Amino acid sequence: MSQLWSPAVRELTPYIPGEQPRERLIKLNTNENPYPPAPGVEKVLREFSADHLRRYPDPTSNALRAALAKALGTDVAHVFVGNGSDEVLALAFQAFFRQDKPLAMPDISYSFYPVYCRMYAIESQSFPLDDEWRVDLDALAASDNGGIIFANPNAPTGHGHGRAAIEALLQKVQDRVVLVDEAYVDFGGESAVPLVDKYPNLLVTGTFSKSRSLAGMRLGYAVGSPELVEGLTRVKDSFNSYPVDALASAIGIAALEDVDHFEATQQAVITTRERTSQQLSKLGFKVLPSQTNFVLASHPEQDAAQLFLGLRERGVLVRHFNTATLRDWLRITIGTDDEMDSLIEVLSELCR
Ligand code: PMP
Repeated sequence: MSQLWSPAVRELTPYIPGEQPRERLIKLNTNENPYPPAPGVEKVLREFSADHLRRYPDPTSNALRAALAKALGTDVAHVFVGNGSDEVLALAFQAFFRQDKPLAMPDISYSFYPVYCRMYAIESQSFPLDDEWRVDLDALAASDNGGIIFANPNAPTGHGHGRAAIEALLQKVQDRVVLVDEAYVDFGGESAVPLVDKYPNLLVTGTFSKSRSLAGMRLGYAVGSPELVEGLTRVKDSFNSYPVDALASAIGIAALEDVDHFEATQQAVITTRERTSQQLSKLGFKVLPSQTNFVLASHPEQDAAQLFLGLRERGVLVRHFNTATLRDWLRITIGTDDEMDSLIEVLSELCR
């Protein structure tokens, strides 16, 4: 370990998001979309002139922000864009959560939140999920915190609260930022974006990585009051004033314009998810209801770590978290119907 690193960096371990498949592996471990992006994206890639790259991109990202505002039913002044929602989240931690009081979060949630806290020396306090493994919004609201963050629908549990529940939280918490991470909202959740006009402390983040099939492009966004958008912009400008690059911008716009493709792939993932959940239940798994593009499943008689290894040996990658609360569970991304059939086939063999 280098003594040249600051104390916060010494504690970090490099994040490896999930194994990359070697060959012909079925990759159900990082919640990517199994379908290609909208055909318009392919067209942008074919026709994009390299000469555009000679110039700096638009420092306001206006065209992409306007396309997002239209798609999300909000105003361009409410929209901020960045290189993946991970970057947008990092900026939000720096801009809003360096407070005297800890940041409140659920104790099963996206694993990056505690990492950002360590990186930016932000104290955090976590709150257990309720009996049905839903984010306990009342506990978060009741705590003495310097901000609140949670994913809705939550990851990796898959449950999403409705907009009314989020609004009830916002009624109670108005003087600190409430960040709702909607990375998975398009697979059956209810977005809190319509609340941003009414609650200037609400920040909603989203991504092109899941429902827009663009994880490789690194495009994410936040929606909030102009005050919060300015807070993010101040932090962003301090190290790279260009929100996203010119090609990413053109690709993002093409993806947003194709509503039919978006809805068709969204529906395909949801239908496959429901079918897979039923099949897993038939094999004896407990499967949590999901409003995302993954399911969390646990078998009463099988060791999840062994199942994970057995699946991997047979060419199917899923996610196993070796933490106290999640040790018995597998997180399985919803792939194509064929991929899920292979998963079920291997699991029936392993559970025999
Ligand atoms: N939030 C949650 C809850 C996630 O699961 C992920 C993806 N791992 C992200 C944010 C980040 O997504 P991206 O950076 O690809 O936009």
